[in-house]
Amino acid sequence: MNILIIGSGGREHALAWKMAASPLTDKLYCAPGNAGIAQEAECAPLDVSDHTAVIAFCKEKKIGLVVVGPEVPLCAGIVDDLEGAGIKAFGPTKWAARLEGSKGFTKDLCKANNIPTAAYERFKSVGPAKAYVRKTGAPIVVKADGLAAGKGVVVAETVQEAEAAIDMMFGGGLGSPAWEIVIEECLVGEEASFFALCDGETAVQLASAQDHKRVGDGDKGPNTGGMGAYSPAPIMTDAMNKRVMDEIINPTVRALARAGAPYKGVFFAGLMITKDGPKLIEYNVRFGDPECQVLMLRLMSDLVPALLAARDGQLKNFDLRWYPDAALTVVMAAKGYPGNYNKGSVIEGLEAAAQIEGVEIFHAGTKTEGGKILANGGRVLNICARGKTVREAQTRAYAAVDRIKWPDGFCRRDIGWRAIEREK
Ligand code: AMP
Repeated sequence: MNILIIGSGGREHALAWKMAASPLTDKLYCAPGNAGIAQEAECAPLDVSDHTAVIAFCKEKKIGLVVVGPEVPLCAGIVDDLEGAGIKAFGPTKWAARLEGSKGFTKDLCKANNIPTAAYERFKSVGPAKAYVRKTGAPIVVKADGLAAGKGVVVAETVQEAEAAIDMMFGGGLGSPAWEIVIEECLVGEEASFFALCDGETAVQLASAQDHKRVGDGDKGPNTGGMGAYSPAPIMTDAMNKRVMDEIINPTVRALARAGAPYKGVFFAGLMITKDGPKLIEYNVRFGDPECQVLMLRLMSDLVPALLAARDGQLKNFDLRWYPDAALTVVMAAKGYPGNYNKGSVIEGLEAAAQIEGVEIFHAGTKTEGGKILANGGRVLNICARGKTVREAQTRAYAAVDRIKWPDGFCRRDIGWRAIEREK
């Protein structure tokens, strides 16, 4: 069948790489794509917020399945519109995508279904929100409802910091004034990302991962979209994975089905593993970026039938196989990221880097011009590697990084440190 991937980052490059290898794939398209994705798929310069144009493209190219990478089109209802036009699409409906699009929706769903998560309250104005943090004290977490590209969360160490976050969010500091915020208990423990496919009734566990959100070595400096990741997460033992399925994922699947909006797509649960067990920090309704890259490297089975089975309600008895190896990815970003950075610098040495055993390079933000690869975003490349251990994967990934000639780029040098300490 012909397949269309929506998106343009490293996540979509990894999906394209995996799906291009499937015997079920005839022709693979990606909209809008990037220079790396163009090696696996034909890139189509579509405006993906124009659902009519996407539908027209799918009809013209006889697309049998659309796989939506990012959350913005999902929350805008692209799956509803495609399915309404008779085109199969992998991902949740607009209603179900509120799991990511609205923190208040998800917190209420957790409360109603005894899904372990931080204690919380929802607020629509400054006064009661500030009164609440003064009463509860710090540390405390302030979150804007709605998508905020990872910027809508403040973990406040003091009451003053929490009050400033409340003023900032209601005052339009995130672009437009928040219409609602959630204030919640600060959880203590180790974070992990957990992934599962769901067909509306049945959820199938994928793999776990851990990422590094801070820009600098030692997990210091401002938050980013993610500077690296590895899989599996050592803290996610078989017993812990089972608890997450039993206590968090499956109750969510049942609750959404009962509400008449069965969830189809991928669950990406951000977890805090506390001394009382796993607690949900947040749901995302798509693969993580860069977590998807390490998941795809470890997935032995064909991804296309798995995504089709999720779309078709056929995941019961579906089994996925994984390589026992670890995988790790180092993000190379443009100097200045996550603040201001320049676009257009030349990147060389990618072919030599990709020759290192176990290494796979995905492009997150690149374009081609005059036969050269140019940086075209903040996060630009994902240097990924498989290895018998996280340590081996890390050694290979950094050996590849060192072959890349890109003076305007940088990366962290310690991706995977937590897992490697455990391996010692
Ligand atoms: P989110 O966008 O909800 O994933 O939050 C971003 C980051 O903020 C998470 O990855 C956590 O590190 C942190 N965070 C969010 N909620 C909490 C919480 N209740 N307790 C502690 N840390 C949190």
